[in-house]
Amino acid sequence: MGWNNQVFYLAVSGLAVNLRQLTGSEDLLLLEAPSLDTRLALTLLTKIAQVADGSEVAWDTLSITDLDILLLRTRQAVFGDRLRADVTCPGRTCGAPIEVYFQVSEYLANYLPGKVRGTEATEESGWLRFRDIPVSFRLPTGADQIAIAYHSHPERELMQRCIRPADIPAKQLRRVEKAMETLAPNLAQNLQGKCSECGAIVEIYFDPQQFTLRELRNQSAFIYEEIHLLAMYYLMVRDSYFGATASATDAIRPEAATNQEVSVR
Ligand SMILES: [Zn+2]
Repeated sequence: MGWNNQVFYLAVSGLAVNLRQLTGSEDLLLLEAPSLDTRLALTLLTKIAQVADGSEVAWDTLSITDLDILLLRTRQAVFGDRLRADVTCPGRTCGAPIEVYFQVSEYLANYLPGKVRGTEATEESGWLRFRDIPVSFRLPTGADQIAIAYHSHPERELMQRCIRPADIPAKQLRRVEKAMETLAPNLAQNLQGKCSECGAIVEIYFDPQQFTLRELRNQSAFIYEEIHLLAMYYLMVRDSYFGATASATDAIRPEAATNQEVSVR
């Protein structure tokens, strides 16, 4: 139902994916979610994304980068390629509204994965090892992000999950982190802009997951507001036409609905 034929690729895994349109069920999911987090993102993606060749994938095993790409592609399909974020100028006494905008396609093209020399795949799916040091690692996934979300030491816990052995010297840790960043670039970045009013340099933290989920939820809220207003309007018209005491049977009497014109101002 409503699957978009357009296929796009997830840069890290190379998976070809397509999306379907969001429906009322996704609107409700977004509106009722307790928080805008990875769990919500994965629930949403499980409903609206599919691998183009029909094969099954557990979305929570994908890298954070691929999940962010999926979310940005989703917002691209819903709102278009141009992304606009509104911020307020932090300049002293300024406070001017600033629009920060960019093209999603260009943004994604800026953060393409690269190759890391001196590493090779291990027998275990998703794990890589360095050839010159006894250290192996895998890319953090959505499942990791959920697992560490409420952990007292999230970074340490992430290392435990994704690096073996976890307690490596700082120099080796930097190598692992650099390799991870090359293989799966972080799409959550600080963006810089300049205030046209006072010239202040404005820095905003752009997190694709937070941004997209908020944007989609606002859209869902807007749709629900519209439906609510329509329902209110219908009731008002009905009440003024049939009188406030009209019964439900009056309201659905067909001739009553067609013989009169209702003008809307
Ligand atoms: Zn300013």
